[in-house]
Amino acid sequence: STGQGADSGSGTGGIGDAKAAAVSEFAQQKTIKQQREFLPVFSVRNDLMQVIRDHQVVIVVGETGSGKTTQLTQYLCEAGYANGGRMIGCTQPRRVAATSVAARVATEMGVKLGQEVGYSIRFEDRTDASTKIKYMTDGVLLRESLVDPDLSQYGAIVMDEAHERSLNTDVLLGILKRVVAGRRDLKLIITSATMNADKFSAFFGEVPCFFIPGRTFPVDIMFSKGPVEDYVETAVRQILDIHLGSPPGDILVFMTGQDDVETTCEVVLERLAQLEDPAPLNVLPIYSQLPEERQRLVFEGDGSVRKCIVATNIAETSLTVDGIVYVIDCGFYKLKTYDPRHGMDMLLMYPISQANANQRAGRAGRTQPGTCYRLYTENAYRHEMLESTVPEIQRTNLSNAVLLLKSLGVRDLLEFDFLDPPPQANILSSMYQLWTLGALDNLGELTPVGRAMSGFPLDPTLSKMLITSNELACTTEIATVVSMLSVPPVLMRPRGREEEADTAHERFSVPESDHLTLLYVFRLYESNRFSDAWCDKNFINPRSMRNAREVRDQLLDLMRKARMDMRSCGNDFDLVRKAICSAYFYHAAKMKSVEEYVNMRTGKPCRLERSSGIFRLGSPPDYIVYHELVMTSREYMRGVTVVEPSWLATLGPMFFKVVTMENRLRSNYRDHLEAESMERELERAREAARIRQEAE
Ligand code: ADP
Ligand code: MG
Repeated sequence: STGQGADSGSGTGGIGDAKAAAVSEFAQQKTIKQQREFLPVFSVRNDLMQVIRDHQVVIVVGETGSGKTTQLTQYLCEAGYANGGRMIGCTQPRRVAATSVAARVATEMGVKLGQEVGYSIRFEDRTDASTKIKYMTDGVLLRESLVDPDLSQYGAIVMDEAHERSLNTDVLLGILKRVVAGRRDLKLIITSATMNADKFSAFFGEVPCFFIPGRTFPVDIMFSKGPVEDYVETAVRQILDIHLGSPPGDILVFMTGQDDVETTCEVVLERLAQLEDPAPLNVLPIYSQLPEERQRLVFEGDGSVRKCIVATNIAETSLTVDGIVYVIDCGFYKLKTYDPRHGMDMLLMYPISQANANQRAGRAGRTQPGTCYRLYTENAYRHEMLESTVPEIQRTNLSNAVLLLKSLGVRDLLEFDFLDPPPQANILSSMYQLWTLGALDNLGELTPVGRAMSGFPLDPTLSKMLITSNELACTTEIATVVSMLSVPPVLMRPRGREEEADTAHERFSVPESDHLTLLYVFRLYESNRFSDAWCDKNFINPRSMRNAREVRDQLLDLMRKARMDMRSCGNDFDLVRKAICSAYFYHAAKMKSVEEYVNMRTGKPCRLERSSGIFRLGSPPDYIVYHELVMTSREYMRGVTVVEPSWLATLGPMFFKVVTMENRLRSNYRDHLEAESMERELERAREAARIRQEAE
């Protein structure tokens, strides 16, 4: 049992209220050593380390907050698994978790972050030669396995949060299974919240599961009586009700993303300001794009002022904040899903699963009995929610994973050892996309271009853009564009100051290309000596710009290592647009009416975003490519660049051909494009796969 008593009202009994209060008071005064020794994992430390000594692979199961993430690495290090110049690696599905936990462990060990304890996330490596414990995203370890297939730097690897089943975790599981078979001296610990433990154990050949005893308190579950129309508004009212009417204890609110997290925080503060002399409430957002020093605030405070933490699902298992007594659960989250027919990823809102709901509720009962307010009905919970989330590998674009596995020498993906194999349609569609980018040949084998692409920690489209820029001699420009696309949005439109911001942005907006606008912004930033003040004045996010600069330096480095020529095309922006076109012809769209376009291959309608520079052109362009589609009420294209139809025909000949003279005459001598049949090409790809399989 999970011991959270989540669906049964007040559940599992446990310690009485008075004692609980004493426990939590104690928690607030403890030294770090005492805090560490108070964690559930500490009480079983010796047994656990014995099991690890006796077995190469161990599954460790425990409630969130039991100390898995922060303690296991330290135990392993103290037990000598980092001796001989090796490291203890610990993977996280989320960047925030990697950075914040590394900071915590550095504090616990009394060392400086980036030395004995460090972290590595994409484009940011804070480790040095003395690093013994390294937290990283699972993506980083995956990429390390490309250059060091045996992961020989590590004496032990903790794969944390495996139950999250992120795409990279799932791929890594298959890879680590191969690695441990070849390296008897490597310890592998897989940690999981309560779900899925048996499955992991079976995958590695019935390895032992070690259970950390739970220490949770009962949580009262309050369902909504009827359907909730506006979950932000309902959550805000619930927050105020608790704050004004319930005993002390912090509040944790689950929202779906940055936008509704920020809105909720703002509205709560507005409402509080309208009250006469309310008790102070410390309202704190947390989501992955939030700057680190603001993230850290959620862990601070001495308990005298009530905290209200508004979070995305990163607070579900990755981060544990002590002192939460009330949880408000909006019942939704955002998930990336892949539509293989249209070959695109979409970030959409879905109802959470029952497993998520229980996990969220459990956050209220960590230090004393708590209450969880669910902003959905009991009926919805029982009948409309899935039991658990569909693993990412079964619902997202696999082109990155496919490219990586191909580079690792996995020839037949349908044969790879997956915990849960992805749908064949997704594999084929992703292979097809890679084939159109020139990364795979007709037999599905990696091409030299594909190998070069896998050298960059980027989506295949962006690596392709870099590679084309080398041929077109505009490498420094494209490196800038790609860096700017790899950081959080740089153009800011603060609420209430939208017009001011738009006016400021207009000055450097390049009408025919949002990508060129990004390039131009970076160039101005450079000529203003990377000044924060310049950013602020122009409604540009200085943090994103600093970030872009760092990413750019690293990309330039990787490009040099790949023996690309660093060349600038000056102001020949057609070359830059051509390189952009080469990566995105999969995302080519044709004008239908002023704001409306249709994807040229799929015929799917998509619209221009109001903020796009394209609106400043005299008339809407006929052909464009876009970076991505975002779903709000409709599909909008984000990051748009005007292209010449002839570019599409030469750069993406498998999709488009310039139609005959006759049609050209009819269309007023303009180039005219026609989409080749997608189905025909897909059929060709399948045929090739079939031939290869038969040949083997
Ligand atoms: P688990 O991985 O089992 O969920 P953790 O090791 O993450 O547990 O958490 C153990 C304890 O460390 C928790 O009580 C949590 O509050 C504390 N902790 C984790 N990260 C931080 C941090 N960045 N700052 C302060 N305390 C932290
Ligand atoms: Mg953890």
